[in-house]
Order: sequence, then C-alpha cells, then structure tokens
Amino acid sequence: MSSVFDDLVGQEHIIDILNSAVVASRSGSDSQEMTHAWVFTGPPGSGKSSAAVAFAQALICPNQGCGACNECQSATTGGHPDVEIIRTEGLSIKVEEIRELLTRVAWAPSMGGWRVVVMEDADRLTESAANALLKAIEEPGTRTVWLLCAPTLHDVLPTIRSRCRHLQLRTPSIEAVTQVLIKRDKISPTMADFAARVSQGHIGRARYLATKELVSSNRKMIIQLPLQLGSLAAAFQAAQTLIDLATDEASISSESRDEKEIEKLQEAYGKGATGRGMATGAAKAVKELEKEQKSRSTRMVRDSIDGALVYLATFYRDVMMLQAGSAGSMINSDMQAEIESYALSFSAHSAIQKMVNIMEAREHLAMNAAPLVTCEALMCKLARP
Ligand SMILES: [Zn+2]
Repeated sequence: MSSVFDDLVGQEHIIDILNSAVVASRSGSDSQEMTHAWVFTGPPGSGKSSAAVAFAQALICPNQGCGACNECQSATTGGHPDVEIIRTEGLSIKVEEIRELLTRVAWAPSMGGWRVVVMEDADRLTESAANALLKAIEEPGTRTVWLLCAPTLHDVLPTIRSRCRHLQLRTPSIEAVTQVLIKRDKISPTMADFAARVSQGHIGRARYLATKELVSSNRKMIIQLPLQLGSLAAAFQAAQTLIDLATDEASISSESRDEKEIEKLQEAYGKGATGRGMATGAAKAVKELEKEQKSRSTRMVRDSIDGALVYLATFYRDVMMLQAGSAGSMINSDMQAEIESYALSFSAHSAIQKMVNIMEAREHLAMNAAPLVTCEALMCKLARP
C-alpha cells in the first residue's frame, strides 16, 4: 500500500519514528512515541515541510496516511478543517498572527481526532510570537499537534525547542535520489544519475530536471551564463535571464496544479451547489486556497532561483575539477568542452572565490533578500576575472 511517507527520500530514520507516532496517536493514551510538539530541521531540499505535512496527513487519515483518501488530499490544500499549514511570505511571523491562529485552533478537532498545525518557517517567529506560541504548546491535554519546521535547531527559541521532539532530516545521497527517480518516476538510469548529481541531492529539483524538457533546457542556459559575462552590462543581463528562467519554470509547474486543486475543492463543496451557505462557504475556501497558492508560487520562484544558483556553483566546481586534472568526476559532463576551454583562462583561486560568492547569494536569498538585486550583485562578482 502506498503511503504519504513514500515521498521522503533518504529519511528512513524519520519515517520509522513518525509511523510509530501515528500508531501511538491512535491508542488514545499519551505515550512516549506521540507528543504534541515537534521540530523538523534539515538542509534545503531535504523535505522538512513535506515530512511535516505527510505526518499531518497520517495523523488525520483513517488509513494512517494513504495519500489517496479525502482526508489526506484535503489536508494538503487547506481544505481540511483540522489541518492548518502556515506558510509565510514575510520576513517574520508576528504575534498578532499567532494570536489569531490560536483562536482558530482553540476548538476541539471537528473530526474527533487531532488538530494539526504545520508551521513551515518557525525560524521566522518574532520573540513575542514565539512566546505566545509557547503558552499553547505548554498547555496540557489539548488535541492539537504542533509541527514546526526550521533550517536548524538554533533557529528556534530555546524555550520552544526544549518542549519539542526534534527530527533532523538529512540531505539524501546522490544514490538514493537516483534510485527513486528510476523506480518511482520511471526515469532511465543514465538520466536519473545525471539529474541527481546536478541537483546535489535535492530530490524535487532532480525529478523536475529529469522529467521536464523546459527545466533541462533552462539548466543548460544557466550553466552557460558564466561564459557570457564579458562586461558589466552582460552581467546585469545575465541576472535578468536567470530570474526570468526561474520564474517561468516555477509558474509552469504551479499553474496546472493550482487549477486541479481549485477544481477538487469545488467538487468537495459540490460544484454548482445552490444552497446559500454552501456557495459562500465554497467561495471563501477558494479564496483561501488562492491566497495559499500565491504564497506557494512566491516560494517556488525563490526555490527555483536557488536551484539556478546551485547549477552555477556546479559549473565552478567543474572548473576546479578540470584544473585539478580530474575530468572524470565532472558533474556537468554534457558541457565538458565549453567548461574545459573556460577553465584554461581561469585561476583555481578565482573559481573558489566565485563559489563562495554564490553561496553567499544563496544565504541572502534565504533571508528574503530581493532576488533581482541579489543576482545582479552576484553576476557582477562572477564577471570579474
Ligand atoms: Zn488517507
């Protein structure tokens, strides 16, 4: 039987814990396996929020997270009354937002099981927001489960993290990603291996790269950007190209999914329902979902810019490999000739410096810096000899 946990690649140690928690959660009594507050941490692409959302599904699903039933499906689209997924576009989650959330979740779960709150960016809680949340987490005997996600444990206030069970996700190995692409997505072994390498263990990106023509051609265009940085004007142009490619990529993938979700939601409310309560309920739910989708699409653009920067980093890494005389371990083997001729004109020290610049830009973006300005500054640095 398939399970919502199937999508978590290379996280077997986490899946075991979550599965026993789900079993324990059904026994009725509070046991060691099941607690009310959890923190998921891990590097980008390891699937922190996917793990948290899958856990939420498994807690409310009658089949422990089948992924196919109404409960499982509505949990991910904001259509389930007992599941709240808090995503944030802003720099911080403010105390007012938390207070509002707490009044929303104060009621007993409507389906009689658990109420689950997934907070995707718990590192963005302001101190007062975190303190307001702390009171809720400390409250005994509630049926609410808190699933907080953050890059590292240090990003969560000590008072909160000391009350949470901590789950650390790993970056899945290249091999694990390759295997999933072959088995689940039916991708050819050569392509799977290539996509897994180029994406550096980021499963979503790897699958995308292997299955979408556009993504794969975008990658080629991005890898070629360093070859085109002849002038300052070219650097600004390259930054714009990178942003455009990333935005296209994100919008193409979200559009069809957004439509499907809205359709599903309308079906759940009974399409064409004429009862007045039904119609307003559906309209409100659709509005909520659209808001959710907009916030997700902003994140997807950011994710895809980050992905583009990872590609760029692999370019300079390959330059270094070539300079060290080990062409065999190149990541972008499909562009060996271009990268080789570039490497000839380049010092190893300079390649390291460029990789540092790229990593810094990724950090800035992760802290919500403006994407275009960040990429322009980066391209200007990369354009230096
Ligand atoms: Zn289910």
